[in-house]
Amino acid sequence: ATPTSIMVGTGRAAEQGVLFRKGDALQSLDEARVIAFDKTGTLTEGHPRLTRISTTNGHEENDTLRLVAAVEGQSEHPIARAIETAAQDRGLTVPRPESFKAISGFGLSARVDGHDLLVGATRLMEREGIDTAPLADTLAEMGARGETPVFAAIDGQLAALLAVADPVKDSSRAVIDALHARGLKTAMITGDTRATAQAIAADLGIDHIEAEVLPDGKVNAIKALRDAFGPVAFVGDGINDAPALAEADIGLAVGSGTDVAIDSADVVLISGDLSGVVNAAHLSRATLRNIR
Ligand code: ADP
Ligand code: MG
Repeated sequence: ATPTSIMVGTGRAAEQGVLFRKGDALQSLDEARVIAFDKTGTLTEGHPRLTRISTTNGHEENDTLRLVAAVEGQSEHPIARAIETAAQDRGLTVPRPESFKAISGFGLSARVDGHDLLVGATRLMEREGIDTAPLADTLAEMGARGETPVFAAIDGQLAALLAVADPVKDSSRAVIDALHARGLKTAMITGDTRATAQAIAADLGIDHIEAEVLPDGKVNAIKALRDAFGPVAFVGDGINDAPALAEADIGLAVGSGTDVAIDSADVVLISGDLSGVVNAAHLSRATLRNIR
């Protein structure tokens, strides 16, 4: 590519809110065979809502939600905001935890009002030896609806299963279709449950899923995609994404992401609009074709 054609190409991209931070990013994007997306906040709105609470025998719904919200008050995860908001909407008084620990990729543990709380994914319950079988049917229903399951255990006993829904962005479906029309494979990488990821991927028509990926496993997920399909473009929004953006053959950060993610990205979509991915793919190909 000549410096002039790259300048013209990157200039045109910038007008569309797509910032190529390095000249060779145009080439790398054109060479990508699979476009992998982070789920939460990238394909989805990233502002989840609590939709349902199922409790086990002896656990009252609002009392359980009050304790769970106390734990989530200490967390930065989007799930935490959903649960806090629900407790507020119900007018519940949320206590302050006596102690708190985040277990990255699993959930949270805390002591609240003299009780031991565990709040998080199925694998947190498995890790802590809590039997989730009594809520297995509810868990399956949530997964099929594309909702994220959040289990709560109180004093070592299964207490509740909360459903958190994070709708897909309006633009996501069209973006996946447009990438397929360009002959590209699509993939989703998420820490979320496999059933939930599958429901969302099926809804959007995404080809491949890497689910239940621990935060430090996203780099390996990119490597697995590369082995399977060829050069990988990764699109992420922020938290936990920086290493994956760096590992990918080309990393695209959606603008609402953290500064960290933007620093490790080759391309920044400043509008936060996913259609920038399609524009970027189109511009890179058009620019390189003009000079070949
Ligand atoms: P992701 O960004 O894809 O959700 P994370 O590694 O942050 O990936 O989290 C993985 C999983 O751990 C989440 O899908 C959720 O099930 C659980 N988890 C993490 N943080 C919390 C939290 N604050 N409350 C409940 N569950 C959590
Ligand atoms: Mg995310």
